[in-house]
Amino acid sequence: MTSVGSGVGEAVLPDVYCYTDQIVNLVVVGNPSESNEFVLIDTGMPRSDAQIKDMLQERFREKAIPRAIILTHGHFDHVGSLAALLEDWDIPVYAHEQELPYLTGKEDYPPGDPNVDSGLVARMSPMFPNHGIDISPHVQALPSDGTIPNMPGWRWIHTPGHTPGHISLFRDQDKALIVGDAFVTVKQESLYKVVTQTQEISGPPRYFTTDWDAAFESVKKLEALKPQIAVAGHGIPMSGEELSKNLSYLVENFKRIAKPDSGKYVN
Ligand SMILES: [Zn+2]
Ligand SMILES: [Zn+2]
Repeated sequence: MTSVGSGVGEAVLPDVYCYTDQIVNLVVVGNPSESNEFVLIDTGMPRSDAQIKDMLQERFREKAIPRAIILTHGHFDHVGSLAALLEDWDIPVYAHEQELPYLTGKEDYPPGDPNVDSGLVARMSPMFPNHGIDISPHVQALPSDGTIPNMPGWRWIHTPGHTPGHISLFRDQDKALIVGDAFVTVKQESLYKVVTQTQEISGPPRYFTTDWDAAFESVKKLEALKPQIAVAGHGIPMSGEELSKNLSYLVENFKRIAKPDSGKYVN
């Protein structure tokens, strides 16, 4: 299950690089023409650590090591290679404090709901691992004032619903948004569309989303920021008028296009 763009990276801004690992995006923030310092947001699928290191080395320098890792949330497709990377990198990892139980071996996520969509991905979702990981020595809570260590000018925004401690990252200066899975720019439930990366805005991936009211509030919160460019955890980066039109469409039609009609986590 590999997307068309797997292993491909794109600098959406001089200092924001989106890299696609199979079905998921990770983001590297740092401008290689200005310095060798950068931060990694999310860590892709399991067993992608060598590939991620190669990508960073190509973009920065030999043995490029991030100053820190920021996690949008702890699902397997966002922390897949984290433990392997931390074997070599002695660096801090930051996540929202409500996400820490899933990153310190205390809790597992609720299992995915295979009934929320007829798509093949949803039918496969019970096979997606929902277990938490334990990176206790490295992980700590993000500062409560909204700042992000090693990312001046950026702030984190609590966007729960997909997971309790889900965050998005926003830079006010140019209205750049790193979304995580608060919304996606591909209709993930359709495997065909994940593979071909057809661009289409959608709510958070359905099979792991447990609080739809919170998820709706989170999308509204992000739309109100009027982002100019958005890199979501899944799909192709979206910008300008296309982004604003799609985001307001998603807010206006959230119950119809994002929320499943029925399912384990739908009331
Ligand atoms: Zn997720
Ligand atoms: Zn995801």
